[in-house]
Amino acid sequence: MEHILESWLLHANRRPKILIADDQPTNIRVLYELFRDECDVFMATSGTQTIQICRAELPDLILLDVVMDDIDGHEVCRRLKADPLTGAIPIIFVTSQNQEADEVIALGLGAVDFITKPINPVIVRARVRTHLTLKLQGDLLRASALLDGLTGVANRRKFDEDVQTDWRQCLRESAPLSLILIDIDYFKLYNDRYGHQAGDNCLKLVARALFEALRRPYDKLARYGGEEFACLLPKTEVAGASAMAERMLTRVSELHVEHLGSDVDQVVTISLGVASMVPTPSVTPELLLKAADQQLYEAKRTGRARVCTLTIP
Ligand code: GH3
Ligand code: MG
Ligand code: MG
Repeated sequence: MEHILESWLLHANRRPKILIADDQPTNIRVLYELFRDECDVFMATSGTQTIQICRAELPDLILLDVVMDDIDGHEVCRRLKADPLTGAIPIIFVTSQNQEADEVIALGLGAVDFITKPINPVIVRARVRTHLTLKLQGDLLRASALLDGLTGVANRRKFDEDVQTDWRQCLRESAPLSLILIDIDYFKLYNDRYGHQAGDNCLKLVARALFEALRRPYDKLARYGGEEFACLLPKTEVAGASAMAERMLTRVSELHVEHLGSDVDQVVTISLGVASMVPTPSVTPELLLKAADQQLYEAKRTGRARVCTLTIP
């Protein structure tokens, strides 16, 4: 298991989570001993408990017994697969029914594998390892589809999803949602003078500086367009958003990336438009985006390298 654990720690920054479901605690113990060193192991002794733990912990893999008292493994599998939250979690059936027909049923229900009891530790480990590797690869692929390739921050697609989610959450809680749009000043001239390669490098540095200005776990930064970034701040009042924008402005200036073509400074600077509102059911997030964009335009018009802010009543 060594190298698979290493790749999980390296790429997912955590150990894989396995759920073992079996109504016989002795069976659970055998499997637990096999995986406790490499994985975070969760245990369930009934079908109901299996579904409950799955929804709460979202394990990376389930080892599922077929015969259980309340809800049998097949039905558990059916229900987990039907739920978008748990549908992608790989399930391996572990069962004493070693008839080919049972294997056909299990695989037909969407299980990735089928193991018979009494288990052979070498076989179980090898199969679990294979499916954990596939799970990690799938997770990474799904995540990379939402990241910007150059800067590593969230991409526009992810931002569009996040705006909707944060809007709905703040609407429910009558909390303010703030948005900052950020645009690099005279970036066309930067490219013209220093080259496109240097331009790309500058974008990476700016993205990192902006990202490092974030404070709370649900503050989000995305690359919004070519040399534009967007920052979403749920549950943040306009004063907090303004302070964040000023901090971003300072951090980018303090990178001291030379930009002798700029009118406003000798180094790369940004302009920022801030808008803040408590979402209401009668409008859409477009209103917030439009307002932030207008403020960004205002910051450009009145001299660049500055923050302009609007609170929408
Ligand atoms: P302003 O201060 O008004 O924002 O002027 P600007 O030159 O920054 O604005 P403009 O929109 O005219 O130019 C944006 C430039 O950003 C043009 C484009 O070449 C550059 N750009 C956009 N995406 C990338 C990228 O991925 N890499 C590089 N190197 N440049 C990019
Ligand atoms: Mg621009
Ligand atoms: Mg620009």
